Amino acid sequence: MLRQVCATLCLVWASVVVHAQDTTMPILFTNVHVFDGVNEERIENANVLVVGNLIAQVSTEPLAAANARIIDGGGRTLMPGIIEAHNHLMLSVDSSSWFNTHDVFYIASAAAGEAEKYLMRGWTTVRDIGGPAEGLRRAIEDGRVIGPRIYNSGPVIGQTSGHGDFRNYNDPHPNMVEYKQPFYQHFSFIADGPAEVSRAVRESLRLGAVQIKVMAGGGVSSITDPLYTVQYSPEEFRAATEAAADYGTYVAVHAYNDTSIIRAIENGVKVIEHGTLMTEDAAKVMRKNDIVLSPSCQVLQLPEEAVAFLSPSSREKFFEAKEGLDNQMRLIKEYDLKTAFGTDLFGTPENFASTPKEFTCREQYFSPFEVLRQATSVNGELLAMTGKRNPYPEGPLGVIEEGAYADILLVEGNPLEGTAILVDYENSIDLIMKDGVIYKNTL
Ligand SMILES: [Zn+2]
Repeated sequence: MLRQVCATLCLVWASVVVHAQDTTMPILFTNVHVFDGVNEERIENANVLVVGNLIAQVSTEPLAAANARIIDGGGRTLMPGIIEAHNHLMLSVDSSSWFNTHDVFYIASAAAGEAEKYLMRGWTTVRDIGGPAEGLRRAIEDGRVIGPRIYNSGPVIGQTSGHGDFRNYNDPHPNMVEYKQPFYQHFSFIADGPAEVSRAVRESLRLGAVQIKVMAGGGVSSITDPLYTVQYSPEEFRAATEAAADYGTYVAVHAYNDTSIIRAIENGVKVIEHGTLMTEDAAKVMRKNDIVLSPSCQVLQLPEEAVAFLSPSSREKFFEAKEGLDNQMRLIKEYDLKTAFGTDLFGTPENFASTPKEFTCREQYFSPFEVLRQATSVNGELLAMTGKRNPYPEGPLGVIEEGAYADILLVEGNPLEGTAILVDYENSIDLIMKDGVIYKNTL
């Protein structure tokens, strides 16, 4: 559907006019150096043929296709679209009290705006790790809104007084009286005990979740759970992971401390979000079980004024988490943990706009190649863990290879020599393609 809309519409973005595209016409990129998302060496002087929404051929030999539109890359780098592993598009307003104080349609409208900006920064997929993003995903798929692919988690699932419990002090419990916000809007479910947890997971799946997000320990933005708290019993975790597995997918947990991380993994959880306060003990368990760790860097390096809106207790938790960052990055390297690339930068337009700075932050710890691999092929593997729920099962994401989805950037310069050029996306990313459709082209 989107392809038809793009064939009839001209999109305008930052004075760049994207011309109507006949999507039945193959596109041949010539004269490009390919970073394939996996290997450190670029494929020099290559040609890449896109047919429909997939990559048909990658070769250093001349390629030909009947009726192909030829785009001369002029020696630019051709790389996979960037993938965001951790954000919350629907938390698109100031995050101190997002669901209680705003009209839900305002939130959705703001989220649609942020979705378009995401794509136009070169980020072609967002793993939305909590919040009611299913409607936005559908609107993008239907071509009514411009944005990235979305892997939607639906409502986060947490226990009473846990990190999914965003009630103010005097707000009653949603399961004890008739009080529905924010639970009615599907930002969060409160579930205690295995039966309630199973039900919450199944309800999230019913609402369109492709992976499940569970809160396994204290978090910064909620008010009643210090970071040391462990949330959910082994039985509750098993209820969640079994209900998810029955639908062919996996559970990711929000967790900072070792006990939360280890207990979650021992009971079937496959992905750890944050993990900032982890020690060697958790690193060993992650390594042994081939767990994906999805940390965020830049959000913990925000200037003090950017977190001024947080309550005093949340601010304290923010600085506690920040303290753990260096140690976590050291452990990732020491144990060679499979590490995703996600930002967790949501709320204000300024926060969303700072998502590219995740590259800058990670380059303090990793080589440009390591960071780029996280943001492309490793994230692609993470998305594929949705198994039977995978909304994009035709090919891999995050790689440039035959059969992969045609999510492609043309970048001036070589990001393997420094990812700063991806932070300067307006000037350095000259072409953005998602699903075979060109959204930006300054060539
Ligand atoms: Zn988050």
